[in-house]
Amino acid sequence: MKASAFSYARATSIGNAIELLVAHGERAKVLAGGQSLMPAMNLRLLAPEWIVDIGGLSELRGISVNGGRITIGALTRHADLLRSTEVAAHAPLLAEATAHIAHPAIRNRGTIGGSLAHADPASELPACMVALDAIIIVRGAAGERRIPATEFFTGVYETTLSAAELLVAIELPAASRNSAHFFGEFARRHGDYAIVGLTAQGIVDNDGLNELRAVFFGVSDRPQPAKATASLIKTAVTPASLAQALEALGEELDPPEDQQANGAMRRHLAKVLLAQCVSKLLDRPELGAGGRP
Ligand SMILES: Cc1cc2nc3c(=O)[nH]c(=O)nc-3n(C[C@H](O)[C@H](O)[C@H](O)COP(=O)(O)OP(=O)(O)OC[C@H]3O[C@@H](n4cnc5c(N)ncnc54)[C@H](O)[C@@H]3O)c2cc1C
Repeated sequence: MKASAFSYARATSIGNAIELLVAHGERAKVLAGGQSLMPAMNLRLLAPEWIVDIGGLSELRGISVNGGRITIGALTRHADLLRSTEVAAHAPLLAEATAHIAHPAIRNRGTIGGSLAHADPASELPACMVALDAIIIVRGAAGERRIPATEFFTGVYETTLSAAELLVAIELPAASRNSAHFFGEFARRHGDYAIVGLTAQGIVDNDGLNELRAVFFGVSDRPQPAKATASLIKTAVTPASLAQALEALGEELDPPEDQQANGAMRRHLAKVLLAQCVSKLLDRPELGAGGRP
């Protein structure tokens, strides 16, 4: 199938893109890398009357580090994140997660802004943004809004972004020296969307886990922080206390069923990932089995 007919406008500046979005409202869609939008249009799941192509706006592309914060332009491609020495040094979780997105051809075109605006609940980057305490910066006719990632994602393919706003950048705190991260996902094949995934960053010191932001994807309509990890903070984690936390996690999650997995399988995989996460962060291989001997 091919997309239904649409009008096309190539934005000449951020201001021009916003003018076009204001003029066409819900009838328009922003085109970034096209890796999610074009398949959806070709399958006629979406039929926008206008396409606003922002691909030529170089001011939306790039990565900079300043005063302990990393700023990533919305048009920065997945492949750019993977190549970036700044991301490797200051947001290693993001680099590791990005390597799991699709395949090189898609990573060469897909952008971080597109992935976040698209808000697929099985995507790696939205969960990373919540784990990394990112701010999503959007711009509209009334100016700029800085939205915490924890509030940005509101449902399956839904965010707080309005039809007349452009996602322009993402800002993250740079990882501190004693921070540690974990990324894990179960997918049928490397590059497929995850059945369940976990992305986490924490502070580890002599007292153990001092902070932990562990966020699942693929288990809910949006990135889901694991509340059950609270019992593992600032305490000596034992196999028994980890087993209790995993039990609590199982009660907290209510994962969906689809062709890939039912809720019980997703819940089980989530527990396996959290055990692997705690084991890796604390460098305690014996915890990897989740408290079981
Ligand atoms: C075969 C295949 C496998 C894939 N596997 C994965 C995977 O494993 N994990 C994963 O996370 N993704 C996967 N993807 C999706 C890929 O990562 C996309 O690149 C990404 O989701 C969207 O980025 P994009 O730049 O291509 O956005 P586009 O497709 O151009 O746009 C996506 C949506 O976001 C909106 N949008 C884009 N940019 C902006 C902006 N700056 N401001 C406001 N709205 C904007 C568009 O209007 C559209 O609604 C896969 C895609 C394909 C085709």
